[in-house]
Order: sequence, then structure tokens, then C-alpha cells
Amino acid sequence: METKQKTIGLIGGMSWESTVTYYQIINETIKKELGGLHSAKILLYSVNFAEIEHLQSIGAWHKSAEILAKIALMLEKAGADFIVICTNTMHKVVPFIKQQTRIPLLHIAEATAEVIKEQNIRKVGLLGTRYTMTQDFYKDVLIEQGIEVAIPSPVDIFFVNNIIYEELCRGIISPNSKETYLRIIDKLQKSGVEAIILGCTEIGLLIKQEDVSLPIFDTTLIHARKAALQSIGK
Ligand code: GLU
Repeated sequence: METKQKTIGLIGGMSWESTVTYYQIINETIKKELGGLHSAKILLYSVNFAEIEHLQSIGAWHKSAEILAKIALMLEKAGADFIVICTNTMHKVVPFIKQQTRIPLLHIAEATAEVIKEQNIRKVGLLGTRYTMTQDFYKDVLIEQGIEVAIPSPVDIFFVNNIIYEELCRGIISPNSKETYLRIIDKLQKSGVEAIILGCTEIGLLIKQEDVSLPIFDTTLIHARKAALQSIGK
């Protein structure tokens, strides 16, 4: 018996704490859709995040673009049908990766924008790394879809970013940091946003829908589910 199913090429390890969620959600979605013993066909290349984070911190995006494009090519050669990059931030280098590969890439912000639009939401608050919140590469994808994007104040951007790299990417889940995030979400809510994007793949480890009254769009869950459905043509 062979199932008509595409092989998903995951570029993970950024950080591995959230790649675990991708692996789980993709397989759970396939199980729900196909039942029985069905599971996902996945090729995973997991990087050493210390190397990637170092390149981010010194602004060497061209170098990390080369590394990720090389990995995408390896996945393509190994038989992946499409690429999924398991981080929002590294979507900054997606244009270069697309130039270097032939197989499609499932973009995390495009997948998220699609779900937001289905719910007729027009204005969102974006939480993520400082790169994702302050640079244009990610927000532009949302804005192109007619979604207005608000970000926290400079000092709150510092807190949100610091908690991601110092805690969440290291597997540290702290009640104090959860309070900090909830306070920042509350400020965004008061500024008039209709929903919050968890635009970093680790934030879902700290903040869940039940913690917040506004709708939450967890990019990890959206991206992983979409990858699974795409692999079975849904
Ligand atoms: N996983 C995070 C994201 O979704 C941050 C880690 C990274 O810089 O890639 O942006």
C-alpha cells in the first residue's frame, strides 16, 4: 500500500524547542485526516541554532541565507516536495532560498495572513523577535493582504525579544515572563488591535489562547497544520 502523499522538507532547529511542536502537530494533523497508523512523510534538517543566532546578531543575513539555501537544496535532492522553514525570523532570507531551489516553499506569514483574512480581522498586534517586529520583511506580507500591523513600544520590543532568546529558545518557561507578555498583549489590545499574532515559533510554549481574551494566531500551529494538509493535497 502506498499513500499519495508529499514529503515535507523541514528546516528546523531554530530553535529545536519549537521544531518539536512542528513534528507533533504535522503528525497529529495527518493522523486526524487519514486515521489509522498514517503519519507524515518528513525530511528534517535541524541546524545548530547558536551558529544561526550569531549570524543574526552581527547582521550577516547573506551568510545565513547561503546556509539555509544549501540545506533547502539538500532537502530537495533528498526528495522533499516542498520546504517549510520552522521559524518566522529566518523568513527574512526566503527570497534568496527561492532563487536557489525549484520546489515550492510554504511561507509562514502568507499562511498566517490567509487564516486571519478568513476571520475578517483587519488589525493585529505582532509579537516576535526584534527582527520580525521592527523590520519590513514579515510585516509587508501581512500589509499586502490588507492587514494592519501594530507592534509593542521600543522597551516592550526589548522584553519580548529578550525572553525569546534568553528563555524560550533554551526551554525556560517562566511565570514572570508570561506576566510580561500578557501585560504587553493587554497594551496592544487597548491600542485597538483585534487579534494577536504569535509571530515567533516559541511563543506558543508560553502563551495559549485560554490566557488571552483576544483571538490568538499561533504561527507554529498554523504553519504546521497547513504543511500537513498540503502534503495530502487538502
Ligand atoms: N523561532 C523564532 C521565530 O520564529 C526565533 C528564532 C530565530 O531567530 O529563528 O522567529
